[in-house]
Formats: sequence, structure tokens, C-alpha cells
Amino acid sequence: MIQVKADVSSNILLLPDPGAWLLRVRAPDLVHARAGQYVMVRCGEGMEMPLRRPLTVHRTSAEGEIQLLYAVVGRGTEWLAGRREGDALDIIGPLGNGFDAVPPSSRVLLVAGGMGVAPMVSLACQSLAEGAFVTLVIGAGTVAGIYPDNLLPAGVSTIITTEDGSAGRKGMATDFIEELSRDADRVFACGPLEMYRKMAGLSCLAGKPVRLLLEAVLGCGMGACLSCTIETKSGPRKVCKDGPVFELSDILWDKITAPPARRR
Ligand SMILES: Cc1cc2nc3c(=O)[nH]c(=O)nc-3n(C[C@H](O)[C@H](O)[C@H](O)COP(=O)(O)OP(=O)(O)OC[C@H]3O[C@@H](n4cnc5c(N)ncnc54)[C@H](O)[C@@H]3O)c2cc1C
Repeated sequence: MIQVKADVSSNILLLPDPGAWLLRVRAPDLVHARAGQYVMVRCGEGMEMPLRRPLTVHRTSAEGEIQLLYAVVGRGTEWLAGRREGDALDIIGPLGNGFDAVPPSSRVLLVAGGMGVAPMVSLACQSLAEGAFVTLVIGAGTVAGIYPDNLLPAGVSTIITTEDGSAGRKGMATDFIEELSRDADRVFACGPLEMYRKMAGLSCLAGKPVRLLLEAVLGCGMGACLSCTIETKSGPRKVCKDGPVFELSDILWDKITAPPARRR
């Protein structure tokens, strides 16, 4: 884990709803981050916002860039959306455990709900490089939240779902897990707490390895402040350091509370 000053290469509004931005920064020392690991970004000027904001690494490039895909929900992400080419960002990372490697030729199902697409695209790239067959379900409220097809890695089989039926299959990503997980050796997911609660109740996933990325409101990101502690079957765990990737069946879902509602 290191601290870097990273220059912004570009920062564009990618998904009109929920208002998600794609930020590219030059950070050669962070490109070894695994899918599911995250960085802590300092937002604001001086000590305006002392707590850094955690964001998963959305993508890395051989040219020394990392990409972050983030929804504007409050002060920190609003400030981030105002950064332009040439601005410098103070970033610490990579942090957390990330997703494990998959065996070559394994069939993996990735389920991305809403902004959960951020680490799932990175995991799709990683799993393809490891020789897996990758199916990626991208679920959003409407077509305005669907990640552009032309930015997805070649070789991934994609299924789109929208709640209003404006693109792909109508429904929630979780509505199709039973059908799509049948042939999958393992399942990975990132999305809101409600999505995980539904998945925890699906009998088709019982006995299958299901790894997910859990969000919590983090304080320090270093395992020191304990603010992101959750209850699991093996005792209390810190999302920032023991996670953010956990096994679905390990988490005591009735003891988990969602971060307070986002502004949008
Ligand atoms: C390990 C990890 C990885 C993350 N990766 C991404 C990512 O790749 N893309 C992305 O868009 N977001 C991601 N998040 C969520 C992101 O960190 C928060 O949305 C962000 O910190 C909000 O900062 P803010 O200053 O804009 O909002 P604040 O002013 O701090 O909060 C605004 C609203 O957002 C809510 N909020 C704050 N933190 C979180 C959180 N962690 N999860 C959910 N809601 C929150 C607050 O409760 C509040 O209602 C991640 C969170 C974690 C823990």
C-alpha cells in the first residue's frame, strides 16, 4: 500500500443516471491492484474533508493508468467530479483483499447491480486473463444506468437487465440468477445490500462459492478505527481490511445495516 500523487488524464460523465463519472489517473504504482481492491482518495482542499473516500479500482492499464467509476452522492464525490485533466489527486492504495484468482477454463457468473459494475468490469478483465469463461449481468434502473457495451472487455458475454425494461431483460439482476448460475462454477457480485439479501435467500446458490464486495461507510481504511466492523459466522470482521470481498454465506445478513441513503 502506498500514497501517490496522481495526475488526472480525464474525468467524464459516463452514466447519466445515477450520475456516474469515469476518472482516469496516471498512477503506475497502483496498476498491480487486483479486482475488488480499492483506493482511498483525498477530496477537497487542505483538511476540508479529512476522511478519504473509498473507491474500487475500476480498471488498470499497461500504460500506467487506473480508472475509477463513481456516482456523485455527496460532498466528496461532487468535488471529485470537478477535477479536470492535469489536476493532481492524493491517493492511497491498493487496499483490501480483492477477488481471488479463478482456475483456467472455469465458468464464472458476475452480477453487477447499479454502481456494482465498477469492480465487476475489472473482475471480468482479470478472470478473462486467467482463462475463465465470463458471463456478466449488468442491472440498472433504466437504460441511462447501463455501462456502455463498447467499453466492456472483448470475450465477455453480457446480459443487461433494467427495472423499467428500457434495455435488455425487464427486471432486477437477481431475477435471472437462478437461470444463469446453473452452469457457473462460481459467482461474484457487487451491488446494494438488498441485492445481497435476495441472493442469500436463493436456494440455487446454496453450496456454490459466491464472493461479493461489501460496501460500508469507512473511516480510516487501515483497520484502525473499527467503524466498518460487520458480524460474520467467524466473528467480527472489518470491511476495510478483512474485506471488502467476503463469502455470501459467511455474513450474518440480519445484523448488517446499509449506509445511510444516498442523495440520489
Ligand atoms: C470498499 C468500498 C469501495 C467503494 N467503491 C465505490 C466505487 O467504485 N464507486 C462508487 O460510486 N462508490 C464506491 N463506494 C462508495 C463511496 O465510497 C461513497 O459513495 C463515497 O465515499 C461517498 O462520499 P461523498 O463525500 O460523496 O458522500 P458523503 O457526503 O460522505 O455521503 C453522501 C451520502 O452517501 C452515503 N455514503 C457514504 N459512504 C457510503 C458508502 N461507502 N456506501 C454507500 N453509501 C455511502 C452517505 O451515507 C450519504 O447519505 C465504495 C465504498 C467502499 C466502502
